[in-house]
Amino acid sequence: MSRVLPTPVRGRLADDREILLFDTDTELGVDRRGLPLRPALPTTTVRRDPRTGDHVILAPARQERTYFPPRQMCPLCPDPEGLSSEIPAADYRVAVLENRFPSLDTPQVPYPADSQENSLRRERTGTGRCEVVCFSSDHDGSFAELPDDHARLMIDVWAQRTAELYSRDDIAEVFCFENRGTEIGVTLPHPHGQIYGYPFRTRRTRALLRTAAEYRAEHGADLFEALLAAEIADGTRVLVRTAHTTAFVPYAARWPVEVHILPNRHVRNLTELTDDEADDLARVYRTVLRAFDALYARPLPYIASWHQYRADAAEGYLHAELFSIRRSADKLKFLAGSESGRDAFVNDKTPETIAAELRAVL
Ligand SMILES: [Zn+2]
Repeated sequence: MSRVLPTPVRGRLADDREILLFDTDTELGVDRRGLPLRPALPTTTVRRDPRTGDHVILAPARQERTYFPPRQMCPLCPDPEGLSSEIPAADYRVAVLENRFPSLDTPQVPYPADSQENSLRRERTGTGRCEVVCFSSDHDGSFAELPDDHARLMIDVWAQRTAELYSRDDIAEVFCFENRGTEIGVTLPHPHGQIYGYPFRTRRTRALLRTAAEYRAEHGADLFEALLAAEIADGTRVLVRTAHTTAFVPYAARWPVEVHILPNRHVRNLTELTDDEADDLARVYRTVLRAFDALYARPLPYIASWHQYRADAAEGYLHAELFSIRRSADKLKFLAGSESGRDAFVNDKTPETIAAELRAVL
């Protein structure tokens, strides 16, 4: 039922990080930069907050990361000479590479077990995987402007990475995401996203799965299937509804712009979609992103966050959460006391208003 995923061309960069090119006719060249080799032992650690059980990643080496390089030094533009960029090739469609400044190191030594010596101080090596995903070689492009077949390729690239990373037993959660816009803190303007393979389940995922399990125990049904059916029946917050995909503003939206996108058929992750479903999801995803950019006079800063689970997980429904911190043409929402101190969001806009504003620019 599911489709064939693309096979990347694989190579190594000067410091032995892995690079993958997808759907390419271009040869991968040699990275001639004199980069120092990565340390053999991971430099990142994960500590568990003894009060909340949340994990905190400590990655001090990231302070050195690239910060707004001049355009001709863009590390994500292709460079056939292999002298100035992360991608030693004449061109590419989609490139994936291990992050040079990772929050989680890929283990080159046996994975150490979680230390149980002291229940208050639990620390382990921060192994996992951090990847940069370059959506296109066009420095000035954006995901919303990708042609149909290129956006579909991106869905397949995320699926291929998800399958490969979930096959690793030291990775508990695969998170594909895009931060777009300087207002979000993006330091490289070239269109790109990231993938984190965490060695633990994040708090948000634990909360989602716990709520879904509680709903199943109480109602004998899947939470997300019920939620999708309820949104469709109600209709006031639905933005796009196609044969295979539905996009809506969630009932309890936390952000001044927020849209969730679900496939109509219950799947756990992007690898399980059929060809038609993957094409449709790519179209709806870009439709929503284009509406985002049409809201105000300038491109909307946004975060796109994909929720995916292993195929045999007891709970979980593939979905994308897209949201923005922009609350008006000239104002941003900051995470202040209630949000940062208590994780209790205050939204100045009702979800129904957000849906009406987005529908007006669809
Ligand atoms: Zn670039």
